[in-house]
Amino acid sequence: MPKLTIAQNILAANDTYAAGIRQLLAPRGIRSINFMSSPGAGKTTLLERTIRRLRVKLQIGVIEGDIETSADAERIEAAGASETCQINTRGNCHLEAHMVQAALDQFDLDRVQLLIIENIGNLICPNAWDLGEDLRVVITSTTEGDEKPAKYPQMFADAQVVVINKLDLLPYVDYDLEKVRRQVLALNPHLRIFELSCRTEEGLDGWCEWLENFARGEI
Ligand code: MG
Ligand code: ZN
Repeated sequence: MPKLTIAQNILAANDTYAAGIRQLLAPRGIRSINFMSSPGAGKTTLLERTIRRLRVKLQIGVIEGDIETSADAERIEAAGASETCQINTRGNCHLEAHMVQAALDQFDLDRVQLLIIENIGNLICPNAWDLGEDLRVVITSTTEGDEKPAKYPQMFADAQVVVINKLDLLPYVDYDLEKVRRQVLALNPHLRIFELSCRTEEGLDGWCEWLENFARGEI
């Protein structure tokens, strides 16, 4: 069973880093979110729209996980994030807590009230890695089909919030919104669901209002 032992050791080391991150953020009143989705569901675009709306009220720090480029971090910086850091995992398919810790070492935490970590686009394994976050958000979109919760149940079961994006494209795709709602709530009855379109900005008001309350510790 050597493989299992190694995996457990790595996860135990990860949990130590994650606990350190909580000890760093909690006393400063910084709340944190781990954003997860498949590639192309719209994580970065949702972040951009969110930061544009909230930047006058809230200082948002963003850690951008990507396999190679820094294009997303540049978009986030332009949107008005107070602190940003790009992590390139060089092929690794998820972020780990030691990577988040290294990014936070470069932040001026006095300029951060809400920390958002954009994980690698992947629905298979990022949920296995605790990043010290307070909240997990999974984004899914109408263009990727309505089977995602059934195919990747653990991602949805481990989250507290699901965002269904690209609502404006609903008339053009075979996507059963009611089925997705039913499936995710069957996996996790406490899930909070937001349905929105980053393109038309429908539903963004409710999402941003909720996020601001979360950041202020009111949720
Ligand atoms: Mg992205
Ligand atoms: Zn992975």
